[in-house]
Amino acid sequence: MKKIISIILVALMLTTILASCGGKKGQTLDDIKKSGELVVYTEAGFAPFEFVYNNEVVGVDIAICEEIAKEIGVELVVKDVAFNTILGAIESGKAAIGAAGITITPERAEQVDFSMPYTTSKQYIIVKVDSDIASYADLAGKKIGVQLGTSSDFIISDAINGTEDDDGNHVAGDFEGTGATVSTYANPNLAAVNLEGDKLDAVVTDMLPAQLIVNNSNGAYKCFELVYPDGSLTDESYGLCVAKGNTELMEVINKVLTNLIETGKIDEYIIYYSTEVVAD
Ligand code: GLN
Repeated sequence: MKKIISIILVALMLTTILASCGGKKGQTLDDIKKSGELVVYTEAGFAPFEFVYNNEVVGVDIAICEEIAKEIGVELVVKDVAFNTILGAIESGKAAIGAAGITITPERAEQVDFSMPYTTSKQYIIVKVDSDIASYADLAGKKIGVQLGTSSDFIISDAINGTEDDDGNHVAGDFEGTGATVSTYANPNLAAVNLEGDKLDAVVTDMLPAQLIVNNSNGAYKCFELVYPDGSLTDESYGLCVAKGNTELMEVINKVLTNLIETGKIDEYIIYYSTEVVAD
């Protein structure tokens, strides 16, 4: 039995080694230079990070990627896709970079490589201005909307369905058995419109997108930070992602990000795309 297990283990190790030697690392710097295009995948319903303005996708992430394309000396091509397909597209080499306010998480880092963090965020709860929901705990029994495949989705779905510990035992979620439901949407804007008519009681999304949705609601909505009952918060960091092992491209990305962070450009982009150029 032991022998069989060790044979299987050796075979598994060999497969991994072979895969990592021969495997293509998504779109390499060489591929990008040869094609003359830096293809970036995003989901353009997430202002100020990416949104459509005058029929064009603009925003903080796009401004960053413009600088990366400039550094490489190629043209930037931005594709607007479903958020939950971005990591797979990077892995398979359909796009070189994923830039969509993507929170760096250990699970995602198993699928792609992340750049240095370029900004931080928190989870926010959006409700109608006359709602009596005033805390995370008040979401018990409520109809909650989130963007599919996002950190908000994971947090709320786990709270409703519960999770499993390392031994496979069920751990009850905060809203399990309260009648709370989660509905998923392509982006937080499409979720928020369902607060009207009370199809949803609350929408959970990242801080700046939540604040902009509220600002654009003509006083219909308000939002507040998600704070767990024990006082803990949902600190997240955003990173750009590339295929695993695509180190040459990652070096360029981190060089550009370092420069943009140090010169205060990222903060400027955030202000510009929150106040000057804003989604319709
Ligand atoms: N930061 C969140 C996540 O990565 C949401 C990103 C987004 O909706 N574009 O899950």
